[in-house]
Amino acid sequence: MLDKLVIATGNAGKFQEFKQMAKNLASEIIFAPEIAKLVVEETGRTYSENAMLKAQAWAEKVNLPCLADDSGLEVDALDGAPGIYSARIVNDSDDKKISWLLSSLKGKNNRSARFAAALALCVPEDYIFIGMGYCYGKIADSPAGFNGFGYDPVFIPDGYNLTFAELDSSVKNSISHRYNAFKKISCLLTK
Ligand code: IMP
Repeated sequence: MLDKLVIATGNAGKFQEFKQMAKNLASEIIFAPEIAKLVVEETGRTYSENAMLKAQAWAEKVNLPCLADDSGLEVDALDGAPGIYSARIVNDSDDKKISWLLSSLKGKNNRSARFAAALALCVPEDYIFIGMGYCYGKIADSPAGFNGFGYDPVFIPDGYNLTFAELDSSVKNSISHRYNAFKKISCLLTK
């Protein structure tokens, strides 16, 4: 069990998810922007590289164990786009990103997609663990629901008829790409 764990993200939605997941991993879970200011350029070519960049930069800055993720939505009919560019494909609100996605899929029958996440846990001057996780599903015809963030209103995970934004957060947090990556890291920690 860690004493303190910093969640190295500026995304409040991701922080809420990590807070729920990591409650048995650390006594105190801290939202990074509340203790320091740091912008890390996502210059990596993969989710893992970007997650590592963020976790290491934050760990150096605050000298505490830091957990960072890099994630994205990969849509089969768009050859895996927006992928690592999911946050930047349209430099605007989540609503605009969803509109971009739905119009890109107009006329395409294949709606299958997956969320991917790399998580990096960096403990200063000690170790860095990385884990990948996925969540498979399909893209809805139109947005539904208000929970979560990002593309949640249009992502229907396999085995459900509702979008992530309609499902309770406890359901998302038990099947999501971030949770699947988190399980790998927490199992390394508890070994
Ligand atoms: P980044 O990891 O900060 O580069 O951002 C990843 C982007 O992918 C987010 O801004 C969202 O647009 C999208 N994304 C990643 N995970 C999720 C999720 O669980 N739900 C909805 N959108 C997500």
